[in-house]
Amino acid sequence: MTVSLVGAGPGDPGLLTVRGAEVLGRADVVVYDRLVHPSLLELTPTDAERVYVGKAPGRAEIDQADINALLVEHGRAGRAVVRLKGGDPFVFGRGGEEAEALAAAGVPFEVVPGITSAIGAPAYAGIPVTHRGVSTHFTVVTGHEDPAKGTVDVDWEALARAGGTLVILMGAGRVGDIAARLVAGGRPADTPVAAVRNGTRADQQTTRATLATAADAGIQAPAAIVVGDVAGLDLSWFESRPLFGRSVVVTRAREQASELRRKLEALGAEVIELPAIALEPVAFELPPLDRYGWLAFTSANGVHAFFDRGLDPAALDSRALAGTRVAAIGPGTAAALVERGVRADLIPERFVAESLLEAFPAPGKSGERVLLARAEQARDVLPAGLAERGYEVDVLAVYRTVTASPDPAAVERVRQGDVDAVTFTSSSTVTNLCDLLGAVPAPQPLVASIGPVTSKTAMERGLRVDIEATEHTIDGLVDALLRALATGAA
Ligand code: SAH
Repeated sequence: MTVSLVGAGPGDPGLLTVRGAEVLGRADVVVYDRLVHPSLLELTPTDAERVYVGKAPGRAEIDQADINALLVEHGRAGRAVVRLKGGDPFVFGRGGEEAEALAAAGVPFEVVPGITSAIGAPAYAGIPVTHRGVSTHFTVVTGHEDPAKGTVDVDWEALARAGGTLVILMGAGRVGDIAARLVAGGRPADTPVAAVRNGTRADQQTTRATLATAADAGIQAPAAIVVGDVAGLDLSWFESRPLFGRSVVVTRAREQASELRRKLEALGAEVIELPAIALEPVAFELPPLDRYGWLAFTSANGVHAFFDRGLDPAALDSRALAGTRVAAIGPGTAAALVERGVRADLIPERFVAESLLEAFPAPGKSGERVLLARAEQARDVLPAGLAERGYEVDVLAVYRTVTASPDPAAVERVRQGDVDAVTFTSSSTVTNLCDLLGAVPAPQPLVASIGPVTSKTAMERGLRVDIEATEHTIDGLVDALLRALATGAA
């Protein structure tokens, strides 16, 4: 087995390489630093050992020699070891020292490069480190000179003469000194400076200054400090997304959260996944479908659970649906049906049970039968209403929702009201989140609900509902959030 020295990228978990994800996916042990995004650890198998070797508050940094020894020990034991480091492992990451230790011990290793913050952070601030006609080269340099750590003296005057772009890492604390030495070395005092703090993260912040003003610009760590004419370019894209700087909680079950997460992140929001519910399949026996005129679904989950559990070849052959019309409560459910090779015959205009009920045609003279596949716990509106209209209704429970146990840190953050908005996509997400929180957070973040039924449940639980989607879909919810939260909106 090999020890993989893997670069995690500067912060945005999406900047991990494909190769990095692959080795994480089959790791026995992950040895990781501070500043590594927690969602990257979720790529490891659930039984992988996770060893934190970063600095913790009130505790000294773990000695590099101890980290080296740990890697050698796990490597020798034949485990698949991932050493996960911020940015690129060989750019001020001490990955070189770890590789030396492994080589000396005869433990096989590999290097999976990562996107260094020296390039990634400026890129997310809209600053290209080279630019045609502006800068022909860039130099990455440490701003932290500590003889005890064995770094060599930086010749700032020589760097000043070399011109081009300078990217200074670990320099926030000494930026005044550095700027003075660069000016002494001949760089004009009005040379642009841009410091990108927490680059590629939801809390990225870009401070712009010049060599003359950098000392007093309030530049704070961790920052990549860009010096040179490229720092005067402002191709801002990340910080100018409409939901940049906003934090939004997604309470859907982990399996269903990705679409909402992706859409919110594309708009620049920080997404906190706090799954209030988890889905659990329910064992069911599929009745003969030719007895039913209609098969109705009220959620995408219902569709997937129905087809997954019924996929026992003896139980379901898609031709068994040939004589049955299929109803879907809304476009999400209909899309799930399409994934399963079925086009819905009926989708109501408004996506709530009441509308689906109204949309059903009158039953045929013999009285048609409806099979309703859905969650174990659900409202009676549909079966009762259909029965009232003369249908014979069989309810088939295909899954159930249970309370999930999300990350305690995320729960605490919501409890403190330290988020901008909480989204609810069903009554069960409301009920379960309220149970998890115990009380309405104070101050209450904006509450955004997918539709009237979910809103009603929220109000019953004492929440103030600020936003309700006009169209009761994920897109509708995202639109409503955008209107309420976009930078500039009230
Ligand atoms: N191997 C890392 C660098 C480690 S040294 C890499 O390739 O990025 C740590 C320094 O990197 C910090 O002091 C800071 O200067 C810089 N840094 C790391 N993450 C950063 C981020 N998200 N934004 C800005 N600078 C960052």
